[in-house]
Amino acid sequence: MLSALTEQGTKILLLENWSWNELATLRKKEVFYCPVCKNRVQLRLGKKKRFHFSHVQDAKCDVEMEHESMNHLEGKLQLYYWLESQGIDVEMEKYLPHLKQRPDLYFTYQNQQVALEYQCSLISPSTVQKRTNMYRRHGIYPLWILGGNVLKQKKANFFSLSTFQSMFVTNYDEQMQILYYCSDTKSFLHVSPLYPFSKMTVLADLHSSPLEKTILPQLFQPKQLSLYMYHQQWCSKQRKWRMYMNKTNDRQMKQFLRFLYENQLSYVPPQACVPLSSSFFVETA
Ligand SMILES: [Zn+2]
Repeated sequence: MLSALTEQGTKILLLENWSWNELATLRKKEVFYCPVCKNRVQLRLGKKKRFHFSHVQDAKCDVEMEHESMNHLEGKLQLYYWLESQGIDVEMEKYLPHLKQRPDLYFTYQNQQVALEYQCSLISPSTVQKRTNMYRRHGIYPLWILGGNVLKQKKANFFSLSTFQSMFVTNYDEQMQILYYCSDTKSFLHVSPLYPFSKMTVLADLHSSPLEKTILPQLFQPKQLSLYMYHQQWCSKQRKWRMYMNKTNDRQMKQFLRFLYENQLSYVPPQACVPLSSSFFVETA
């Protein structure tokens, strides 16, 4: 994490205004505490890695402490400066005691409180759901942005979507999308609109927008769609799937094929394979 309290209760935020020497001096004369659980934390000063605080071993923290990778710390800081450059009063790691939550970034935009969670590590779908519901119940908009490291492009415009990633699909203006941010390339990656091909595979466009050329409301704008591309790739994938579906190891699918065969239903009607964004809501297994 990037924030801690001193013995006197002064909040230390590890923004880019600190030099290594300044922090090394501070570390010699100060003891640091977690603003949430008040346990001791250590100031870590790597020469290559981002400066950060971490709990001493075995410390129990009220806020679930997920493993924070360097990508996470870098990205969180980049997003902080990005919001600040747009005149938004943003707070880093603000603890919300009534919710027992500490979003990565917290700000108000057009009278709407927003909790930005930059998620680079896997957490359980129930944790995501619980946190989302809690923010919403308290009138806070949860803005989840996944780490670019989680994005898995298979081939052409097909992407792997795990159950974890599916939790972050958001409907913006009738378009299903997932938002990622890559701290290495300093770019947002919008995967949108999403058309599920199977439970784990979606057809979608990948739109990349550099951080410096993007402003907050652009994250929620619908993206241009190439219908031609979608049609071509969907049909090609369907063709292959139909040709090789007899090789599947899926027991349910085998039973279904047997049913079709025994009832002399050689052809599945084409309507069965029409891409629909709403099929995202259909759980297939
Ligand atoms: Zn703590």
